[in-house]
Amino acid sequence: MLVDSRARKFSYLRLSLTEACNFSCTYCLPAGYAPRDPGLPSELGLSEVKNLLIGFEAAGFSKVRFTGGEPTLRKDLTEIIAFAASLPGIQVRALTTNGWNLKRMAAAYRLAGLQALNVSVDSLDPSRFRMLTGRDRLSEILDGIDQALGLGFDSVKLNAVLHREHARDELGLFLNYVRSRPVTVRFIELMKTGKGAAYRDAHFLSSGEMRLELLRQGWRPVERSISGGPALELSHPDFLGRIGLIAPHAEGFCESCNRLRISSTGSLRLCLFGDGNHDLREFFQSPEKARELPRQLAQLLRLKAPSHRLQEGDTGILGGFSEIGG
Ligand code: SAM
Ligand code: SF4
Repeated sequence: MLVDSRARKFSYLRLSLTEACNFSCTYCLPAGYAPRDPGLPSELGLSEVKNLLIGFEAAGFSKVRFTGGEPTLRKDLTEIIAFAASLPGIQVRALTTNGWNLKRMAAAYRLAGLQALNVSVDSLDPSRFRMLTGRDRLSEILDGIDQALGLGFDSVKLNAVLHREHARDELGLFLNYVRSRPVTVRFIELMKTGKGAAYRDAHFLSSGEMRLELLRQGWRPVERSISGGPALELSHPDFLGRIGLIAPHAEGFCESCNRLRISSTGSLRLCLFGDGNHDLREFFQSPEKARELPRQLAQLLRLKAPSHRLQEGDTGILGGFSEIGG
């Protein structure tokens, strides 16, 4: 397994399959997706994605999350999931999606070998959902999630970005939602990006305030597993589901970093808020070439910084999350 100079072990790949998106979330792509300049590198094709997965399996990666943009816009997503599932080393296949087509596609993704599903649902209030995402689609998405809950996924989670002005209301709605559903709803602190700095300053709420409210209502932290990711999870005996809080601004957040990110054009991003991309596309041109990837990754990992510098207001080269997937 790849290890960096701070003894962090890397086994989790977050692979952006496209920068395109059909939503226009206020904090991510407020003006919607504008197609790439044809002069810029194209998205990785199916065979390049397959070679990439072979390369990361050879480097000891055991989990892959498909993200974007909106990864389900790719017509070959089911085939990509099935290919990942055919590689014995890739033990966990996960997807982050806005859920727009779950009702139609969740069963096919599951059958292809998808085990973990994260759906971004910023609000359970239909008009607020439409305001935040630009789409009037909440009820179809919730139906899709209910359908997915019957398909035997290992985990189904919802992601909601915290907004100062809506948090109290949303907490009430989401608590009601998890009372009878075995899902974890994770509230994510709004992060600063190159294009979203003013938005973040206007709407940010620390998850600490929500944590205090949950503790007051009898919720208790669940012990974290080593591979459990960065969320603080809380449970309550009267609720089937859980609440998670993701606080990237908290001290020590980067100490347990176990992930690398690849953009939809095949560049490695050592840190979401890092300063550079490392083009690896040449390694994805054949399975033989992909098997040289572990050595290249080991060298590049020497450049990985100990932590992001968000506290100092430094967002690196990240313009917005749709560029790489969050
Ligand atoms: N389109 C898919 C979706 O929305 O789930 C996958 C890509 S989206 C960029 C991945 C996650 O990043 C979503 O849960 C979204 O809410 C989150 N995100 C986007 N911009 C963010 C920001 N500025 N701060 C915190 N989370 C953000
Ligand atoms: Fe699209 Fe996801 Fe960004 Fe919303 S958060 S605009 S769904 S990429």
